[in-house]
Amino acid sequence: MSISVKHLTKYYGNQAAVDNISFEAKNGEILGFLGPNGAGKSTTMKIITGFIPATEGDVEVCGMNIKTDSIKTQEKIGYLPENNPLYLEMYVKEYLSFIGKIYKVKNIKERVAEVIELVGLQKEQHKVIGALSKGYRQRVGLAQAIIHDPDVLILDEPTSGLDPNQLEEIRGLIKKIGQQKTVMLSTHIMQEVEAICDRVIIIKNGKLVANERASELQNNKSLQVIYVEFEGEVSRNQLAKIKYVRKVEAVDTNSFILETTLEIDARKMIAEYAKKENLLILTLRKEEKTLEEVFKSLTT
Ligand code: ADP
Repeated sequence: MSISVKHLTKYYGNQAAVDNISFEAKNGEILGFLGPNGAGKSTTMKIITGFIPATEGDVEVCGMNIKTDSIKTQEKIGYLPENNPLYLEMYVKEYLSFIGKIYKVKNIKERVAEVIELVGLQKEQHKVIGALSKGYRQRVGLAQAIIHDPDVLILDEPTSGLDPNQLEEIRGLIKKIGQQKTVMLSTHIMQEVEAICDRVIIIKNGKLVANERASELQNNKSLQVIYVEFEGEVSRNQLAKIKYVRKVEAVDTNSFILETTLEIDARKMIAEYAKKENLLILTLRKEEKTLEEVFKSLTT
């Protein structure tokens, strides 16, 4: 396993920002780490990268414990922190050489040239970082994260604040880099997960609520979206009171889209309800769910 997190907990004062979470990332996997703001994503990533200590639990990176083998694990990890802090007054090439020296990278000139090419910074390499657009700054952030050729990349919201074109470019770059490395990236954008991730982990209030392949998440049974059409008028409020129904959207006075939180087929439950209330059903079918809907249902 490239990353193994076991029973990780982090308290800030009395608040459990991360609450007993466990998960793993396999070699070569791109792992999406999702959750609403304040869910504990950055805290988890800072612990994995050794920036802050855990309160409880264990983290291994490439089979080594981050506490007892901290120097060796640092060599294995590349980290792009949230908001990508860079020295804005430094030049791109100068900055990457500086970071490379910190990691004691050999053949530093060649390696800097290599990563500049890999992330597509050739034209910008002689510019001062402060003069670059947000998209190019992200490229510099990715370049500094991979300068020492780590096996594992931890990217904290690498695409936040980018315009749609930059977003696509950076996602493409992460996918390219991810072919040879294990990548864990945090985001609160579900489409990002669909676009680049193999596996998804979702946390809410510091607790793990999902750990699945992106495709499996869509089939998650705990959320079903059902279209129901009755013969006559039915009140929306009446349907909202049915057990396991978490949301009712009226299409018209007779038809509704219901979201349910039930492990068994929710159509059966609705049919039984209609029978009991003497309502005649004309249409009853399961609708396709979007990943966005699944994410919302798991985190709200
Ligand atoms: P996310 O990255 O998912 O937005 P964070 O890990 O940044 O979440 O934060 C999780 C929770 O921990 C939040 O409630 C946040 O306010 C709190 N928190 C984060 N860092 C600190 C800190 N240094 N001191 C106190 N509380 C913190």
